[in-house]
Amino acid sequence: MLIIKNPREMHSYSQKMRSQGKSIGFVPTMGYLHEGHLSLVEAAKRKADIVVVSIFVNPTQFGPNEDFRRYPQDPKRDQRLLKNFEVDALFIPTQKEMYSAGYKTYVEVEGLSKKLCGRSRPHHFRGVTTIVAKLFNIIAPDFAFFGEKDFQQQLIIKRMVRDLNLPVEIVILPTVREYDGLAMSSRNKYLNKKQRSAATVLYRALSLAKKEIEKGECNAKRVEQKMRALIKKESLVRLDYLAIADPETLEDVKRLRNRVLVAVAAYVGRARLIDNLLIEV
Ligand code: AMP
Repeated sequence: MLIIKNPREMHSYSQKMRSQGKSIGFVPTMGYLHEGHLSLVEAAKRKADIVVVSIFVNPTQFGPNEDFRRYPQDPKRDQRLLKNFEVDALFIPTQKEMYSAGYKTYVEVEGLSKKLCGRSRPHHFRGVTTIVAKLFNIIAPDFAFFGEKDFQQQLIIKRMVRDLNLPVEIVILPTVREYDGLAMSSRNKYLNKKQRSAATVLYRALSLAKKEIEKGECNAKRVEQKMRALIKKESLVRLDYLAIADPETLEDVKRLRNRVLVAVAAYVGRARLIDNLLIEV
């Protein structure tokens, strides 16, 4: 596995592969890898000739009081895992190289970026779309792989790709969960034993919503109330938002029909965790 730190070097590697007629699959991450990330790597390997993974903790997607400075990292372990998966190249640029002094350019998908997580993280998605656009320019992938766990993120990235005519196909993979339903996340590392156990209430609440909807409940408010009541029982969990929304527009829905996105975000100790389920009504 090649380890590339410099954006120019990364670009010329990609160009070289493309000139040899090879397709490139790209998996952007912030590292501290888990099975969720690795499921994206596996999908990339199935679909493309060359797999590039990036690890970059992107400062512009963190708010001033968020966990940028303490975001979990284990570069040695990450590299070992990726090598075992026979990834072709790992791109680990420095902050300075991605955002040189006087950096002033941002990519923003209006509207969608302000909903759900955008309410409590107002500049988050602008940071995400900016870094993803930069990485797409550097790596020029044919395919890029994202997790449904970050549902709003993948929706916004797909919109950016469409709006800016970026020549890349976005592939979305299902959420990988722990044995008890907790969505895998690098931020689960922040949880102590009690918090870890309380955090399962997010998936339990989503599963409750699924059960209610499958039983025929059509009223979103009533489903939400049941979810809130369940989450309230866990004193270590502080709900940020709970939404039942249209999976295309992220607008709240009142009457449940077709397909709905049920999404939650909550603070558990120092961790802000998110999860969601797409439910067929
Ligand atoms: P992150 O390193 O958290 O920025 O995530 C990098 C990529 O992995 C994003 O596309 C995430 O949606 C995806 N991802 C994170 N957690 C999971 C998970 N539990 N299952 C599937 N994909 C995930």
